[in-house]
Amino acid sequence: MGDLSRILRREYEPGPDCAWIWRLGLHPRVALFLWKVVWDRLPTRAVLGGRGVRIPLVCGVCGVAETVDHALFRCTWARATWRLAGVPQVVWRGRDPFLQAMRQGLESPLLRQGAVRASCTAFQIWLARNARTFDERRMSPRFVVERARVQAAELGYTIPVGGTLIARDT
Ligand SMILES: [Zn+2]
Repeated sequence: MGDLSRILRREYEPGPDCAWIWRLGLHPRVALFLWKVVWDRLPTRAVLGGRGVRIPLVCGVCGVAETVDHALFRCTWARATWRLAGVPQVVWRGRDPFLQAMRQGLESPLLRQGAVRASCTAFQIWLARNARTFDERRMSPRFVVERARVQAAELGYTIPVGGTLIARDT
C-alpha cells in the first residue's frame, strides 16, 4: 500500500486539482471520464498511436488528427450532437472552456444542472466515439443525446429536449 501510494503520488502530483469533480455529484463513470479529460488521459487515436498501437491517427469522420479536443468538441459528429443537445456553444467550443463550465457547476444549482447535462453529453459522445472506433457501430447524434438525457435524469436532473423528442415527454 505504501509503495502504491508513493507511485500514485509520483504519477499524479503535481497536477490539476480535481477535487471539484467529485463535488459535482456526477455518476462515478462520468466523474472518472471528466478526470481523464482534465488529465488528458483519454485514449484518443493520437495517444494510442504514441503507445505503438497500429491504428489510423485521424478521426474516422473528419480525417484530421484525433485529439481529446477533436473527439469531444471539434469533430463534425460531436458538434452535431452538442447542437442537438441544446448545450450553449460557449460550453463546448473547446476542452478548456468546457472544463471551466463544469467547474462553475459548483457555484449554483442552475449552473450545476448545466454542468451535469454537458458532462453527460460529453461522456456519451466519447462512448459513441469508442463504439465507432472499436466496434464499427454507428450511433446517431439523436440517440446519444437521448442517452445523455437519461443519464442526467438518473441523477435527478431534467434536460429540456428540443425538436422531435418533445412529443415523447409531453
Ligand atoms: Zn472528427
